[in-house]
Amino acid sequence: MNEQIRNLPDAQSHAMLLDRLAEVAVRVGLGLKPGQEVVLTAPLDAVPLVRRITEHAYEAGASLVTTFFSDEEAMLMRYRYGHDESFDTAAAWLYEGMAAAYRNGAARLAIVGEDPSLLAKEDPEKVSRANRARSKAYMPALNLIAGFDTNWSIVSAATPAWAKVVFPDDPEDVAVAKLWQAIFAASRVDTPDPIAAWEAHNANLQARTRMLNDKSYAALHFRGPGTDLRVGLADGHEWNGGSTTAKNGLVCNANIPTEEVFTTPHKNRVDGHVTSTKPLSYNGTLIQDIQVRFEGGRIVESKARTGEAVLNKVLDTDEGARRLGEVALVPYSSPISQSGVLFFNTLFDENASSHIALGQAYSKCIRDGGGMSEDELAARGSNRSLIHIDWMIGSDQVDVDGITADGQAEPLMRSGEWVTK
Ligand code: ZN
Ligand code: ZN
Repeated sequence: MNEQIRNLPDAQSHAMLLDRLAEVAVRVGLGLKPGQEVVLTAPLDAVPLVRRITEHAYEAGASLVTTFFSDEEAMLMRYRYGHDESFDTAAAWLYEGMAAAYRNGAARLAIVGEDPSLLAKEDPEKVSRANRARSKAYMPALNLIAGFDTNWSIVSAATPAWAKVVFPDDPEDVAVAKLWQAIFAASRVDTPDPIAAWEAHNANLQARTRMLNDKSYAALHFRGPGTDLRVGLADGHEWNGGSTTAKNGLVCNANIPTEEVFTTPHKNRVDGHVTSTKPLSYNGTLIQDIQVRFEGGRIVESKARTGEAVLNKVLDTDEGARRLGEVALVPYSSPISQSGVLFFNTLFDENASSHIALGQAYSKCIRDGGGMSEDELAARGSNRSLIHIDWMIGSDQVDVDGITADGQAEPLMRSGEWVTK
């Protein structure tokens, strides 16, 4: 028996923590309203969590919970046996149905737990075509989600394949138990009163966004090893963080966990160079040590130590893929960063570090953006793309300044920490 096994929670406390995670997903994540439908997506390995969530959703008054399971083994069969034209096909009918459900008031809950290395050995061209086809078909549903037309949330489940990537040196059962522990801690369900813990956490994040919105900086300036980047902010940008009031009036936490405050950069006003501080796991490829240079908002030079071909394919997805859709600040002392675990999953890794995202911007991050047309959003500097990919640029060696409209630099973060508490 080794140290790790002795420290793992027993079956009873695992069941309790799983139940608390389900309760947090329904009450904090979705903020579900009695009578509301829930559309749930989940990997097959997440069945125990799906059942706990379904129970809590019905207890909270859900009218119907419909779950769509995905199976990674079956997904691989497409790459093994699918005909060439298969990779330009997507289940448009399914995504149309999901969009219709959200339009009719359904809440959306996604459980993620995918194997980050699932597609690592597949043809990048096929992977990119399949993603493109899916992104296109999914766009109407994604727009409703990104615009918070309905309340939604993403939580995670420790699946064996994912756990083995995060903890490769452990036997599978130990790896899964360790990943669950990390998920429970990051999701604040290992505290005595998780609902109260989330209320306090949301209040902290909201105080931070209020300060940044009052400042209304023209730009942020990131400085660190391999980084000297000026990120102009969109005109009328709004900082968000923690809970969100969706357009249907319900208060949800879109990401469990979440540590970031984030806003919309100006798509034409990003200049300088930046180096990634953590690996980016993208569809099974690990893209490490990304170095890019921006000119007038557009990436004009890009390289990476690993995964460079995949990175360049991503950048060629469409015109907006070379521009930023998000900038986010996360202190180095965030619990996910302190765990020291690389999760190979954006939901966790983006909350370990300040980051930028290539591609689509959130209309929520433009003041009154929810009611604006695409053209009005673009006029503010809001970017459009089929992709939205976060990658990490913060560390304990990175400083961030806010640049005021008249060009004054005000220190926001030093050595990765907020200057003001
Ligand atoms: Zn983010
Ligand atoms: Zn993002």
